[in-house]
Amino acid sequence: MSNDQPLTFGPVNSRRFGISLGIDLSPDSKQCNFDCLYCELEKASTVTKQDQSIEVSKYISEVQNALIKYPETQVITITANGEPTLYPYLDELVDELNKIKKDKKILILSNASLINDVKISAILQKIDIVKLSMDCASKECFKKLDRIDKNINHLDILDGLIRFSKDFKNEFVLEVLFVDTINNKETEINAIYKLLCTLHPSRVDIGTIDRPPAYDVKPISYNELQSIAYTMEGLNISIAHKTKTKLDKFLEKNELLNLLDKRPQTKEDIENLLNDESKIIFEDLVKNNFITTKNQAGVIFYGRNKSKKV
Ligand code: SF4
Repeated sequence: MSNDQPLTFGPVNSRRFGISLGIDLSPDSKQCNFDCLYCELEKASTVTKQDQSIEVSKYISEVQNALIKYPETQVITITANGEPTLYPYLDELVDELNKIKKDKKILILSNASLINDVKISAILQKIDIVKLSMDCASKECFKKLDRIDKNINHLDILDGLIRFSKDFKNEFVLEVLFVDTINNKETEINAIYKLLCTLHPSRVDIGTIDRPPAYDVKPISYNELQSIAYTMEGLNISIAHKTKTKLDKFLEKNELLNLLDKRPQTKEDIENLLNDESKIIFEDLVKNNFITTKNQAGVIFYGRNKSKKV
C-alpha cells in the first residue's frame, strides 16, 4: 500500500517514559477493536483486523532516519490510530526494532484486547516496556465503557492478563482511565483493584479524560483520582491529571512513613501533598535511608524501607 503520511512522530518528552519517538501503525484511519467512550480519536465501528497496513521496511527506514536526527530519543513507542496489536506484521517489526534500537527501549501501548492470543503474547514478551489498558473488571463495564467488539470475550482479556503477567520479565505498566458514573463506582473500583493486585505490575497509571472524547462523557476530578489511589494499597500508582491540586499538608515523620507503608508515592505526589516544613522532614528521611527510591518504568517512586526501624 502506498502512503504519504509520516509513520513516526515526535520525539516528545513524555513525563512517564522519557524522550519518546512514536510509531503509528495505522496512520491513515482509525482501526480498533474497541470504541471507547473516552477515545480522543473519532467514534468508529470496531474492526478485528487491519485492512490497511504498511510494510515493516518503511517503518524501519523512518525510525532509522529519526534516530540519526534525534539521538536523544530514549524510547521507541509502538502505537496506532487504534490498536497496534492488530498490525499483521507486528512480530517482524518488533524483531527489526530490537536489532536497531541500541540503547533505546521499545514500548508498546495496547488496549490488551488480544493478550490471550498466544502469538500476540509472545510478541509482547520481546518488548522492553508493555503498557496495557485495563479500565474495567466487569463485563458490563467493558461493554459500556470500552465498547469492545462483539467477537471479544472480556474473560479472555482477564485470563490473558493474568497469564501474561506471570510470564513477562520486563517492565509491565497498566493504565486505568476513569470516566464519571461508569467505572468510578465502588464495586468496579474494588474489582479493578483486586485484579491489579493479582497482576503485579511495575506501575499503574491512573487518569481520566483530558482531551475531547468521542462521546459525551465526563472526567472525574483530581481529588477523586487521589481518593481512588489511596484505596489501592501496595501498588505503585502514578496519577495523571491536567490540573493538580496543591494540598500543602503538614505530615510528621511517623505519618509520612505510615503513608509510604500503605502505598509508594511518586515524586509528583510528594510535591503536591506536602508543605515546605514536611518536605524537609521527608528529605531527611530519604537521606537517612528510612525511605527508598525506585524507578518503575521511568517514574520515580518513594517507598518505606521496611528493614529500617524508627
Ligand atoms: S482502545 Fe484506544 S484507540 Fe481504541 S477506541 Fe479505545 S481509546 Fe480509542
